[in-house]
Amino acid sequence: MSKKHEVTLIPGDGIGPAITEATVRMLEAAGAPLTWDRQVAGMSAVQSLGDPLPEATLDSIKRTKLALKGPLETPVGKGFRSINVALRKEFDLYANLRPAKTMMPGLRFDNVDIVIVRENTEGLYVGIENYVKVGDDPHAVAQSVAVVSRTAAERVIRYAFEHAVKHGRKRVTVVHKANILKYSQGLFLETGRKIAAEYEGRVVGDDKIVDACAMELVMRPERFDVIVTTNLFGDILSDLTSGLVGGLGLTPGANIGYETGIFEAVHGTAPDIAGKGVANPTAVMLAACQLLDHIGHEALAGRIRKAIETVLRERKTVTRDVGGTSGTDEYTDAVIAKLK
Ligand code: NAD
Repeated sequence: MSKKHEVTLIPGDGIGPAITEATVRMLEAAGAPLTWDRQVAGMSAVQSLGDPLPEATLDSIKRTKLALKGPLETPVGKGFRSINVALRKEFDLYANLRPAKTMMPGLRFDNVDIVIVRENTEGLYVGIENYVKVGDDPHAVAQSVAVVSRTAAERVIRYAFEHAVKHGRKRVTVVHKANILKYSQGLFLETGRKIAAEYEGRVVGDDKIVDACAMELVMRPERFDVIVTTNLFGDILSDLTSGLVGGLGLTPGANIGYETGIFEAVHGTAPDIAGKGVANPTAVMLAACQLLDHIGHEALAGRIRKAIETVLRERKTVTRDVGGTSGTDEYTDAVIAKLK
């Protein structure tokens, strides 16, 4: 029997508990060698412990170095800052890996298979912002600083090329806006070109300006393979690629650091459907597959992805967001039945 890996499980807020429990049930049925340390974060942690990111949760992730996380509610414009951003900082989770693959033909595109690698620690998300007072208006001008460092650019771009080599992908496209932001985006592009040269003969390295990339992703997404880009562009383009393959309910994301990996759905807490039993657990299930890949259980991850894809392709037992009528539990049962 293979060694069991302990994983910190953060059910999260809104639909989080329902979709993470569905995922745990599916993983148990698949015989995944995982044990769970259940911890809280987000609004549910504020309600139970008065802290959105309790020490016990951080200590658990420090120990296990692996977490599967449901979405967390972040109050808009007030209250605590995003726990997701805090976790990325705390564990230096520098690469955010968001694959978008067609699993349900008949949507807009049938052959999309793109991995977006988003720089996860700096860019415009460093939180260096201020107002400038002009005359009587204290908020007359707002400034946000974008930070790109050679070290952070190098490690995420190298991660994208290594991912391409490991998974037999042919091309890595560095996406940027260096024509306008000549310093910050220029440094990212320069670093990308230098690393691409190192991989010549193994992976094709090219680059594209972000606006042209957005247009081409909608016109000819099949052309793209791996995209690596800065934080804000990666955030936006990865939601775009989710839309190409059936929406947020189907797209997972892995946050990878040197030691720790935190795996989650790309979507949020879906407050409009929370507690109704209709949420689609696929994104968290696919995030669990990324976790299994990460710890070397690629074959099991492949078996689970195949079961999910079969259920989605049959379209008989799928959730409302992808055109069906089934609830979370019924869909999970259908995936489990295909694992056998
Ligand atoms: P959302 O992703 O929660 O919802 C957008 C739409 O997609 C809603 O109509 C929702 O019902 C639907 N949807 C999302 N996931 C679904 C699923 N699995 N199955 C079926 N339908 C699904 O985005 P939002 O409404 O902008 O955000 C709600 C909350 O989530 C906010 O507090 C936000 O800060 C938080 N959020 C958290 C994360 C995270 O923890 N990683 C990510 C994004 C948003």
